[in-house]
Amino acid sequence: MENYLKEFPNKEGYFGEYGGAFLPPELEPQFEEITKAYEKISGDASYINELRYIRKHFQGRPTPVSHARNLSKRIGSGANIYLKREDLNHSGAHKLNHCMAEALLAKHMGKKKLIAETGAGQHGVALATAAAYFELECEIHMGEVDIEKEHPNVVRMQLLGAKLVPVGFGGRTLKEAVDSAFASYLEQADEALFAIGSVVGPHPFPRMVRDFQQVVGIEAREQFTEMTGNLPDHAVACVGGGSNAMGLFSGFIQDKSVKLHGVEPMGKGPELGHHAATMTFGKPGMLHGFKCRVLEDAEGNPAPVHSIASGLDYPGVGPEHSYLHDIGKVHYGSATDDETLQAFWALSRYEGIIPALESSHAVAYAMKLAKECPGETILVNLSGRGDKDLDYVADNFGTGDDLKI
Ligand SMILES: *Cc1c(COP(=O)(O)O)cnc(C)c1O
Repeated sequence: MENYLKEFPNKEGYFGEYGGAFLPPELEPQFEEITKAYEKISGDASYINELRYIRKHFQGRPTPVSHARNLSKRIGSGANIYLKREDLNHSGAHKLNHCMAEALLAKHMGKKKLIAETGAGQHGVALATAAAYFELECEIHMGEVDIEKEHPNVVRMQLLGAKLVPVGFGGRTLKEAVDSAFASYLEQADEALFAIGSVVGPHPFPRMVRDFQQVVGIEAREQFTEMTGNLPDHAVACVGGGSNAMGLFSGFIQDKSVKLHGVEPMGKGPELGHHAATMTFGKPGMLHGFKCRVLEDAEGNPAPVHSIASGLDYPGVGPEHSYLHDIGKVHYGSATDDETLQAFWALSRYEGIIPALESSHAVAYAMKLAKECPGETILVNLSGRGDKDLDYVADNFGTGDDLKI
């Protein structure tokens, strides 16, 4: 792996056996057009400079690295936890890194519209933000069940000017929203760009979204080294589809001394349907037009999944993570709902940072790692802030009276 990021994926979008593009024939030319446009633009100085300008003057980059001094002291092993503060991105999470870049790509391709699906609404909000900035139309497909559950994000998308398409068939959640968004894209592909929300989907999205998120790892490596004089011993990130994790990992993937850890949701426990731990329990399969590790039920269908963090409950995972798992380059561990709540409360109370429940998985895992690795340094990607989770946690679990650390 002399130059991993250049070598992977290959031209057809494969990371080992994973990835690729399995599309209905009508969509093949569209995805080829996207691949060509991205290849051209990613080497184009005006595109890169425009993206840099946006990141600095609109998004609030670079985001800082913070030392979680109080939490580290309380754990008491002499290990130190650091946080890459993606929660300080405009709109509150790392998702804007790839949404702004996808919108800019759409603009350069002469498209007028962005189309996407959303589950909990996080991707929808980030994309609607990008669409408003670039004066693009935005069409977001969302299951009726999710629309009812995620009221604040629905209002945000509407305020930002997105057109919400309620999806009322099947289970009326994320899977149907993907189907509906794809069908709509098929009809308007000439003037619209489909904007995928993580390092998943058919080629070129896993590669493109990783490249767009790479800024996280590049910044973090430089900031951490400047702060401590060394590279971290460990880099930790939660994995839903895997975009924030690939962002952080890509900054350290050539560094043999840095151990990389992806953290999956173990939910309520290892029983099928109680978690979304794709790496731990999944096997190679196919989902939404690409090959990856998939959690399946006894009949071989995508399994029902659960996590306290709605941004992590996906029965598949990015093809690159599937590959990095198989070659042993990244270790995939997990955190349960209960461990995640402890981390959510602990970071709030001891550090003054209220994290997203997704990111709290990474913090929970880092707290376990700190106990096992006295004296070592752990850099966590704090992928987002917890404002969206406040009411849910407070109403169902309280505001931290059960904190045990
Ligand atoms: C969506 C989301 C995630 C999960 O997505 P990845 O692609 O796995 O990064 C994690 N954290 C936050 C805050 C999110 O909004």
